[in-house]
Amino acid sequence: MRLSQMLFVTLREDPAEAEIPSHKLLLRAGYIRRIGSGVYAYLPLMWRVLKKVTQIVREEMDATGAQECLLPQIQPAELWQESGRWDTYTKAEGIMFALKDRQGRELGLGPTHEEVITTVARDTIRSYRQLPLHLYQVQTKFRDEIRPRFGLMRGREFIMKDGYSFHTDVESLRETYAHMYQAYSNILRRSGLTFRAVEADSGAIGGSGSHEFMVLADAGEDEVLYTEDGKYAANVEKAIALPPEAVASAFTKDEIKDTPNANTIEALCQQLDCDATTIVKNVLYQATFDNGQLVLVLVSIRGDQAVNEVKLNNELVKVAADYKAKAILSLTVADADSQSQWAASPIPVGYIGPDLGDKLIQTKPKVANKFLRLADQTVIELKNFVTGANQPHQHRVGANWGKLMPLGKAVDVRKATAGDRALHDSTQLLQTARGIEIGHIFQLGTRYSAALGATFTTEQGEESPLVMGCYGVGVSRLAQAAVEQSHDKDGIIWPVAIAPYHAIVVVPNLKEATQVEAAEQIYQNLNAAGIETLLDDRDERPGVKFKDSELIGIPYRVVTGRSLAQGKVEVVKRADKTSVEVPISELVSTLKAWIAEALR
Ligand code: ATP
Ligand code: MG
Repeated sequence: MRLSQMLFVTLREDPAEAEIPSHKLLLRAGYIRRIGSGVYAYLPLMWRVLKKVTQIVREEMDATGAQECLLPQIQPAELWQESGRWDTYTKAEGIMFALKDRQGRELGLGPTHEEVITTVARDTIRSYRQLPLHLYQVQTKFRDEIRPRFGLMRGREFIMKDGYSFHTDVESLRETYAHMYQAYSNILRRSGLTFRAVEADSGAIGGSGSHEFMVLADAGEDEVLYTEDGKYAANVEKAIALPPEAVASAFTKDEIKDTPNANTIEALCQQLDCDATTIVKNVLYQATFDNGQLVLVLVSIRGDQAVNEVKLNNELVKVAADYKAKAILSLTVADADSQSQWAASPIPVGYIGPDLGDKLIQTKPKVANKFLRLADQTVIELKNFVTGANQPHQHRVGANWGKLMPLGKAVDVRKATAGDRALHDSTQLLQTARGIEIGHIFQLGTRYSAALGATFTTEQGEESPLVMGCYGVGVSRLAQAAVEQSHDKDGIIWPVAIAPYHAIVVVPNLKEATQVEAAEQIYQNLNAAGIETLLDDRDERPGVKFKDSELIGIPYRVVTGRSLAQGKVEVVKRADKTSVEVPISELVSTLKAWIAEALR
């Protein structure tokens, strides 16, 4: 491609709309244009990058025996009602764009395709003989994100590869899952990214049924906790570890003390001269289930610790059936505003004890009349602890679990943090890093097949729900993450495997016929040899051309300059800006060797 004929517009200044380097660079270098909030046009250079990423993804998927298909983006509401996700996706999280057609039928624009694929499976899979089966697609997804930002990182329209596998049993699922783990590692490695596979939250299902593939970068929206020995890495949402040891409480007598204005742990520690690990803190949440039921959840946790709301949410899903519900619509700390909806008298926030009386809840339809009391692991063994006295400005000291101080249901809802001791080796302390989630693999089990009635006949002739797995890679996010990880002050440094072009031939001076001629010839030869090459034949100053080639990040720049007289050209590597003179006769073989080396 000749730059003189290409849609090629670069910007000198950083665009105001962009915060992180990769977003700025993709805009400045003319890869993308913003059309609306979280909605971007992929310009020709970007589209080439995306096609390269997609090709790597396809090769790795096909190598595992997965089959490519293409599913509809317009999805009937009924499918999502059958799976029980319509309300969560359109109301609670509101992530699905929903619309009505001319007949008034409700539709959603696909944010993900479990419902559709399970419907396909229901209609086509009859027997264990057809299993296992793995279908995937590469397609635009739609999600009405609360905070679209960082360009392609969190778009409202983006490209994803999503795959879904079907199995007779969990063992077969695990086998495919292991293959996907390998395939995803290959995809990221081949794309030139440094990444870490981490244990991820898999909802209320639990177990080690889910991994995320994280590209480590400061701009990452996820927090990863890991150990130096490489044996443990998890998303903070899922991470487990040993908290610091608790200090023994100095209080021996169970009594109530005045603690004026001590409504924070810090203030309380100061007033009572005690350690935060001797305190039982009680956090009041309000959960709304999908049937409209409101439940007040009182979580007791050690004073120095924080609640992990993802873990808490999972615990609540586990008890949803007790409230005749299936899912959670919302989970928030019960603030003054929300209390006015259910509290019979003011709640002494900051002074709450685990024994907060159920009488504080108004008798009302759709409001559970008892607190759901949960006790995090960190409080179970505490003795003579400090806790709220259920009166403003008062705390109880020297308290113990018993009849009057009921210990709630034991759960793990603690947020692991950097510095915690690892479970596998307590000398290893957790470290923290930011990560960009590029891929996510997930052992689904029978959640969707059971709900939509997708069954098969087993070898024994029985009907059984299909066991499922699902696997997603953010293709457009991956492309931008590559830039986030690989750039310098002058622009993008594309990994060779996903660069839009391998080489760019720059003619410093269009007025010199020998330069132009040589450049034309080299441009033809390189492309003929399969080296994807641009020709910068614009009538611009050499400085502008060099700057642009660095900004757009093409791996190798060939300059037809002074050394032409000796039958040579200058070749500059974008990554480290080293420059070598290469005889024109050896240019193709040299570049081919470099590219092959980079793709290994
Ligand atoms: P996140 O936690 O970042 O919102 P997710 O867990 O909801 O992502 P999945 O449903 O697991 O995302 O989707 C699979 C992959 O699709 C993600 O790992 C990510 O790479 C990509 N992805 C998800 N949401 C977006 C988005 N809004 N823009 C770009 N890529 C996305
Ligand atoms: Mg995910």
